[in-house]
Parts: sequence; structure tokens; C-alpha cells
Amino acid sequence: MSVVTRFPPSPTGFMHVGNARTALFNWLYARNMGGKFVVRIEDTDRKRHSSAAVEAIMDGLEWLGLDHDGEVISQFSRQKRHAEIAQKMIDNGQAYYCYCSPQELSEMRELAKNEGRKTFYDRRWRDTNLPIPEGVEPVVRIKAPLDGVTTINDKVQGEVSVNNDQLDDFIILRSDATPTYMLSVVVDDHDMGITHILRGDDHLNNTFRQKVIFDALGWEVPVFAHLPLIHGADGGKFSKRHGAQSVQEYREMGYLPEALVNYLLRLGWSHGDDEVIPRDKAIEWFNLENIGKAPAKFDFAKLDSLNAHYINESGAESLIEQALPFYEQRHGITLDELAKSRITQGIDELKSRAKTLLQFVDESAFYAKALPFVYNEKALKNLNDADEILQALKTAFENTDELTSDKVQEICKAVADEFKDSKLGNVAMPLRAALTGTTVSPSIFHAAEILGMQETCARIQAAIDR
Ligand code: GLU
Repeated sequence: MSVVTRFPPSPTGFMHVGNARTALFNWLYARNMGGKFVVRIEDTDRKRHSSAAVEAIMDGLEWLGLDHDGEVISQFSRQKRHAEIAQKMIDNGQAYYCYCSPQELSEMRELAKNEGRKTFYDRRWRDTNLPIPEGVEPVVRIKAPLDGVTTINDKVQGEVSVNNDQLDDFIILRSDATPTYMLSVVVDDHDMGITHILRGDDHLNNTFRQKVIFDALGWEVPVFAHLPLIHGADGGKFSKRHGAQSVQEYREMGYLPEALVNYLLRLGWSHGDDEVIPRDKAIEWFNLENIGKAPAKFDFAKLDSLNAHYINESGAESLIEQALPFYEQRHGITLDELAKSRITQGIDELKSRAKTLLQFVDESAFYAKALPFVYNEKALKNLNDADEILQALKTAFENTDELTSDKVQEICKAVADEFKDSKLGNVAMPLRAALTGTTVSPSIFHAAEILGMQETCARIQAAIDR
């Protein structure tokens, strides 16, 4: 059997990290099995539908590197097919028109509430010859089984059952002839040949009803794996109060897709004690057996450490490429070739310091800045009363053949001996302020070597002249 998994987001807002995890697990399973991963946009709710939300989801998938097979399917575009199936079920005596008025339904609800019943609909239009009221557009209800149990052999939850008396004759087609979620999902999953459904366990209740539809139509029921939801550190469902919720936010905070993918994979799936699981290993190792049964807690420290790892593993070119928008946004800088080459020369140190791309960008932006500089407040403090030191440094630099990192350090030491009771920091700080405009950077000795004699001296002079 060839595996087909799916990602069927409802495009009502941003792409939640929980949804991204669901997409990832489905993608990994398909890729592991040599199967297909398809995307279906569940856009039947036209009031809440927005094309910006669809775009956000497709962008998110692309950024995470979760490529899909075939065309993206719009569920809305398949409404005729859904209605056809509802009609077929009516013709087969598996579904029926219900003409209840809102008034009747609310009476039934009230009664059920008083009697402590979960289901409320009294099936009054099932198998009856009641006279059809005029001017009422009926809904279509399924004939759910009246007794017995419905059982799902879930790959994560194990065998889960519900007594069929807990399942209503639920609606499959509304009075305006639009399908309900329950019907459209089943028809689409069937028509798209979906073999495995991995999704949040908040859908488990829907699954029983969906199985009723699959069974009624004699369609093969897909394999289900319901993933425990993600929790926050305090054990509650992961939500805004715990931190960023959308994939886009993590992207904007400077996380690499590789890090987020690795992190989301570990959030509910394990391979021994492995924490760092690059994409190729994830594809090779992913299985349904190792999906955790308990909700995993979102751990920002772990995500940070994975991000630091993947930043450190990245090549200079790819890192700079991914960082480009942040240089623009945060520093108003477009990197030219010279800036790129300087950053590349300093890459090892920059990478090893950075937990996020933002930190990487903030600590390397000085390579790309042009004079005159804007010095931040702390840097300005370090420049106060430092003219004499800066002048001494500049003169010494100008009198060396080559400005290597060692040489710069040597000169700084000599200047410290002369002016600052041998305190190297008291020389390095104004030098850092002059060269970077900030107080945080990689080794300033190495930075001076990378900037080169001319630029280093020009920046020192500008700091003196400021
Ligand atoms: N559109 C549903 C959601 O985003 C999909 C549910 C399903 O996996 O069937 O929750």
C-alpha cells in the first residue's frame, strides 16, 4: 500500500506551531514511507476565510521545507461532490431530511440538558412519514448506529471506543446545501486516497463520527494517529501566555527552519536520547510507534540550544542569505559584497556566539555600516575621554606593516601599559565603540584585522572627530 498523508488547515489566521508540528509529522511519515504528502485547504467557512491566511500557511510550509505533492486542494471547490455523497446516502437510506425548526431543536436541547444526556436530537425525522412542513429547508442527518460501539485502533491512543448511543444523528448537509466539516473531511480524505491521518487529539471525538460515515459508505477507514496536544511549561495547553504561537513569529525572532523542525519533531516524538536530529535522519527514523502518549511541554531553552546548534552548523553563505531581511529591518542596511566578505571572514566567531539570527545580525551589522556612525549610548560613554588612547592606537596601527589580530592585540596591550595601568579592557572598550558603534561584538582584535588598516583607522578618526 502506498502511503498518502495530508495536511488540511483551516485558513482562519496565522500558522500555529501546533499545526506546523502536525504538518511535519504527516510530511515525515510520507517521506519515510516513500508516499505522498498532500495539502488541502479547508476553506468552506467563507465568513472566516482569508487568502492572506492561506498564503501564511503556504509560506510557513515552504519555509519549514515541507514540500507537498500535487496540487493544493480547495475543499470549498468540492462542495458539489460533498452534496452528491449526501444525496447518495439519502438514496441508500443511510441519511434523511430533517425539518425541525430552531424552536423544536432548542426544546430538545433543553430536555436533554434536564435529563443529563449528551445527545439531544430525538431522531423524529428518522424513518417517519410525518407531513413535510411548508417553507422549511431541511438539513440532512446521518442515520448513526443506534446501538453497539464504534472503535478506533489509534496508533497513539491505542484502542478507543465510544458507545454508539453517544453519537447523534449528526448533520452532514446544512439547510443551504453546504456540507458540514464532518462530511467534507471524509469525502475528501477518501477521494484523495488518504491512508494515514495524523492530527491533534482534540479531533478524536470527530473521528468516531467520521468513522460512521466511512462505514456507511463502505469506504476503507484510514489509519489514525492522534497526537497529544502541546502544553506550556505550567502544564496548560500551549497558548499565547506561554509565548509566541505562530511559525511566522519564530521566523521573525531569528529561528532557523531546521531548528524549529528539529524542535517540533522532538515535541512528541523520540529516537532514544537523540536531541539533534537533522532532517535526513528524521526522515529515515520517523515512525508512528515512537510518538509520545503524554503531552509534550514547549521548552524555549531547548529550542534556543537547537537554534544555536543549527546556526553553528550553517555555511556562511546560507546564513547570510537567511539573515539579509534582518539587516534591512533592524539596521536599515543592504549588504554589499564587501560587507558579505567581511562577515564571512568573521563567521566562525559570529556563529559560535549566536543563539538566534537576530543576535548574529546585531553582532555583525557593524561590518556593513558606513561612516559617519551612529554610536549607541553605552558606546558613547566608552568614547568619552578616550581620544588620547584612540589617537595612540591609530598612530601605532598606521606604523605597522600588517594589521593582524595578534598585532592589534599587541598594540592594545602596549597602549594599555602606557595609559591605563595595563588594563587591556580600558583600551579595547573604546576601540570596540569606535569600530562597531556598540559595546557587544566578537573579538575586536579580529574585527580590526577584517576591517583592514584603512577602514579601522578611518573609524577611529571618526570617533575622535565625532
Ligand atoms: N481543518 C481542520 C483543522 O485545522 C483539520 C482537521 C483534520 O485533520 O481533519 O483542525
